[in-house]
Amino acid sequence: MTFDIITIFPNIFDSYFKESIIRRAQERKIVKINIRNLRDYTKDKHKTVDDKPYGGGPGMILKVEPIFKAVKNVRIVGDVGDVKKTSLTKTILLSAKGKKFDQKMAYRFSKLDRIILICGRYEGVDERVAQHIADEEISIGDYILTGGELPAMIVVDAISRLMPGVIKEDSLREETFSFKNKREKLEIKIEKEYPQYTRPEVFRGWRTPKTLLSGNHKKIEEWKKKHRG
Ligand code: SAM
Repeated sequence: MTFDIITIFPNIFDSYFKESIIRRAQERKIVKINIRNLRDYTKDKHKTVDDKPYGGGPGMILKVEPIFKAVKNVRIVGDVGDVKKTSLTKTILLSAKGKKFDQKMAYRFSKLDRIILICGRYEGVDERVAQHIADEEISIGDYILTGGELPAMIVVDAISRLMPGVIKEDSLREETFSFKNKREKLEIKIEKEYPQYTRPEVFRGWRTPKTLLSGNHKKIEEWKKKHRG
């Protein structure tokens, strides 16, 4: 899986993608993350990526042309060498107006070869990006953030951990919103994971449930089933 993130703030991603599970997924070459600076796809000396909205209004809008060039470059040049020309690629615009991102969507996207994520900033992005360039517009929730970079990190994180070899299958099966693939039909169990505890058994008088300490596997399984949300 290759992710290409188009942004005007490439340094934002430095820390998160260099730690923990996402770092290991990249080291194991299960996931590749390319951060693409939108300013590299401009042609004027000031590397202009935004302009005032037509018809007036506050703030600045990201221009369609540099985004078009960046996506085109990834689709044509980026596909040589690391991903086949026929690869399954989706271009996603991060947008508060978009379809709500959820675990089912993460699972669907984890079947792709390449995902291009376009991060908006300021007042947003020229509408022609949603109309003609992006395949889907995705929101991570009903609130407005300053940019699409945090949403892009969330999308990359949620998808990467579903890729085979990134984390243990068992962990995926048991957790909140876990899924099973029944005869090609995706079924998401909308239930929460059971509560979990680790050492010490008692902390400030707060106890771990006795059943979990009993060693009785049948009873433990019953307890977990009963305490799922
Ligand atoms: N004027 C826009 C509106 O009313 O919908 C908000 C623009 S927001 C300040 C700047 C950028 O942040 C957006 O273009 C988008 O890329 C990103 N963004 C903000 N909130 C988001 C959310 N909930 N989900 C995904 N992206 C979001």
